Amino acid sequence: MIKAQRGTKDILGEDTLTWQKIQDSARNIFQSANYREIRTPIFEATELFKRGVGDSTDIVNKEMYTFSTGGKDKNESSITLRPENTAGVVRAYIEHNISRQSPPQKFWYFGPMFRYERPQAGRQRQFHQIGIELFGVENPAADAEAILMAQEFLKSVGVDNLEVELNTLGCPKCREEYRNSIREVLKPYLDELCNDCKIRYEKNPLRILDCKDENCQKIFERDEIKKVILNDYVCPECAQHFEQVKKYLDALNIKYSRNKMLVRGLDYYNRTVFEIKSNSLGSQNAVCGGGRYDGLVQMLGGAPTPAVGWALGVERLFELIEKTPAQKLDYFVVSKYPEHALKLCKDLREKGKTCDFDMQNRKFAKQLEKAARVANFAIILGEEEIEKSFYTVKNLSTGTQEQKTLL
Ligand code: ATP
Ligand code: MG
Repeated sequence: MIKAQRGTKDILGEDTLTWQKIQDSARNIFQSANYREIRTPIFEATELFKRGVGDSTDIVNKEMYTFSTGGKDKNESSITLRPENTAGVVRAYIEHNISRQSPPQKFWYFGPMFRYERPQAGRQRQFHQIGIELFGVENPAADAEAILMAQEFLKSVGVDNLEVELNTLGCPKCREEYRNSIREVLKPYLDELCNDCKIRYEKNPLRILDCKDENCQKIFERDEIKKVILNDYVCPECAQHFEQVKKYLDALNIKYSRNKMLVRGLDYYNRTVFEIKSNSLGSQNAVCGGGRYDGLVQMLGGAPTPAVGWALGVERLFELIEKTPAQKLDYFVVSKYPEHALKLCKDLREKGKTCDFDMQNRKFAKQLEKAARVANFAIILGEEEIEKSFYTVKNLSTGTQEQKTLL
């Protein structure tokens, strides 16, 4: 017996209805705001993620599904299942010269992502993300719209109680001072930090703040470290940008709180970063995360292009929303003449009705039982009905019956 791979899940039965609802809501909300769907391949050159997500991230260092195509061309041979979609969308943006269209260029996506992680509640190896990417706008209106889209999408699936956590990482210039201060204040504790944080200390010290290790968390509680974290290192331009974002959010009545520990797990963010968390999800509580990444397009070979986006975990969202119940069919055809039942179903479906029929010539009582389970009305199709083209239609909740010409 071959089973599904660890960390992957089949989506079955009525759950698929809820998944469809999530996708339909996403399409409606994003298209109403002029976002176009983008579908990029689920595998890309490994190099894209190394450069695009960042060499010092957990995603690239520990979680990548990388394999060789076995091709002779060395440059082509290492590919990776996408762990996230921003890198792929940016690649497509550059490759298709989308920057030639007038900005903003706005995209949304839905699809599976792959990370080699320890499976647990809220953490799978194949999971799904919905996300948006908005290119070409430096104005803080873009940050605010991105956050608004996340909240509007969540509202459209009935989740309207999640607060946004907000922070600013500044620009590469002002971040340098922040990085140095963090390094300095953490230096005496270097031995006590977890192994990952020892590496982060060298490569990307800000991300130490993202560490989930209890011992590291305790160290961050120390007064002198707190002081550095709570200090604002951002330059006047970045501070102004952040103020504007907050002003826009206030005007939209979007609730947020500042979380100075929020740095996000990816290397490419600058200025605004945000996360939307739920307190009913246990320890994997982040539903949505994103921010501004003004340097990424250039880093991947395009022209300098400001950009902002986010990604939302669909499995975690699924846990939060009311499930969509199965709907009954309009009709179930009960008949000993499958060829006629099939033709009647075809005609009814063409008229926009939902219907099904018994394909196995089962006993009348069995067919009627099935009809009562799956449909609102049974159509009894006997010899006489076939000849005269009228039908006996039984209301399965009241039991009443009438003769009808349905077509
Ligand atoms: P976490 O801190 O939970 O590992 P992350 O920072 O790695 O999250 P992002 O890369 O920001 O996650 O991805 C955005 C969203 O995708 C997350 O907020 C989460 O809802 C979802 N997500 C990420 N990894 C997984 C996973 N392995 N299984 C299920 N959902 C995931
Ligand atoms: Mg992660």
